[in-house]
Amino acid sequence: MFAKADDLVMVIQPETGGTEIKDPATGETVGRAPEHARAHLDSAVDAARAAQPGWDALGHAERSSYLNRAAQAVEDNAEALAELLSREQGKPLNGPNARFEVGACAAWLRTTASFELEPEVVADGAELHYRPFGVVGAIGPWNWPMMISVWQLAPSLRMGNTVVLKPSEYTPLSVLALAHVLNTALPDDVLHVVSGGREIGEALVAHPHIDKLMFTGSTETGKAIIRSSADTVKRLTLELGGNDAGIVLPDIDPASIAEDLFWGAFINTGQTCAALKRLYVHETVYDDVVEALAGLAAAMPMGVGLDESNVLGPVQNKAQYDIVTELVQAAKDDGARIVVGGNPVEDQPGYFYPTTLVADIDDKNPLVAREQFGPVLPIIKYSSVDEAVAMANGLDVGLGASVWSSDQEKAHSVAVRLQAGTVWINKHGAVDPRIPFGGAKQSGYGLEFGVEGLKHLGQPQVISH
Ligand code: NAD
Repeated sequence: MFAKADDLVMVIQPETGGTEIKDPATGETVGRAPEHARAHLDSAVDAARAAQPGWDALGHAERSSYLNRAAQAVEDNAEALAELLSREQGKPLNGPNARFEVGACAAWLRTTASFELEPEVVADGAELHYRPFGVVGAIGPWNWPMMISVWQLAPSLRMGNTVVLKPSEYTPLSVLALAHVLNTALPDDVLHVVSGGREIGEALVAHPHIDKLMFTGSTETGKAIIRSSADTVKRLTLELGGNDAGIVLPDIDPASIAEDLFWGAFINTGQTCAALKRLYVHETVYDDVVEALAGLAAAMPMGVGLDESNVLGPVQNKAQYDIVTELVQAAKDDGARIVVGGNPVEDQPGYFYPTTLVADIDDKNPLVAREQFGPVLPIIKYSSVDEAVAMANGLDVGLGASVWSSDQEKAHSVAVRLQAGTVWINKHGAVDPRIPFGGAKQSGYGLEFGVEGLKHLGQPQVISH
């Protein structure tokens, strides 16, 4: 068992060299991450490939029991993992952040272990089975590095594949530490990590012995992966960028939904793929919704993650901080109203951008039209539901969306008109290991979670007699 983040860092960082990883809240060094070369990737893939038939031969029940033991290992090391995640990613320990993320890792492992997957009889004498692909490559982002790795590896392993993970170069230590802990419970060589940047990611995608690729990250990188995986006709699951809309109907009580709206937008300080990123509010309740959100935004403590009182943290990296700054500036330039926030303190340690609400903004403004991926929410006024639906559907991405109403039927009738992989009613971004999740339009393809998600990690095979 590891008591502290530093104990984990000691076992995962190279003895010498590597890339220094800094805490985005303080600028202090968290540890050094290995920069793996192509030879390391090849040996990880070879080892995973050699281990795969034996892992497959164990069968579903035995593999599920390994996943449950892996979940236990995460729980036994939860505080050390959460501390490391907080220091490397920036997210606070408390709120829907680091401890929550580590807890979700265990929950996803256990729930994925519990699924039933029997062959389906599809017609007389014809059965549909799912067989493992072989070795799954998994490439992840920096916003929820541990949880998204588990989203990728848990169903892959359960299906009988072995896995090679490539974490984001911004958050490699979290994933290396998580894999180290998981590997204390898993058989040798079923789970490997290669650490590095874009080049090693490209090599993983093109690798002839990677049979399926799970990718979570930006739409732009997703498109590059589609192109570079063509020569090997690799199976892909792509969870890409989003710019989720929420539509508030006129019949709601603003005070009663404000907190759920707030966290729908500001979970993980807004750095969440399926967070609420544009809020459309009917003109009759607009001022009240803005006011209720402003009260919450001003009151939520933001700061260094290890301080137990904070629930919002820094933006994870300078590039993302600059995007947020630029987009809020575009809103100001266009005459939009900054309700709270909008003025980052210069010359401070850490990439802290204040919680920002922007009202009276045009739907075409870049802050609305582009994925801002930070602690900012533009709030757009509408007068007819048709207009709100048209604006919500007006972009080329469609990960999640939400409808807010005191009338479930009315909300449902709007929900079915929205072009998004998930539409939540009176909540936003609530994912569940049992419920399939995936994007519409350029937010990706393929499903994760639930038995449907598990099937995406298997090659369908019909046995007919
Ligand atoms: P990113 O696309 O920049 O990087 C993601 C990963 O891809 C990193 O590990 C990176 O090293 C790797 N990579 C970069 N170029 C590559 C290439 N050509 N070939 C192979 N690998 C390559 O994304 P990010 O900035 O780390 O993450 C933020 C984005 O992820 C946002 O757009 C967000 O919406 C999206 N996201 C989506 C989901 C979802 O479930 N749909 C979840 C979380 C994040």
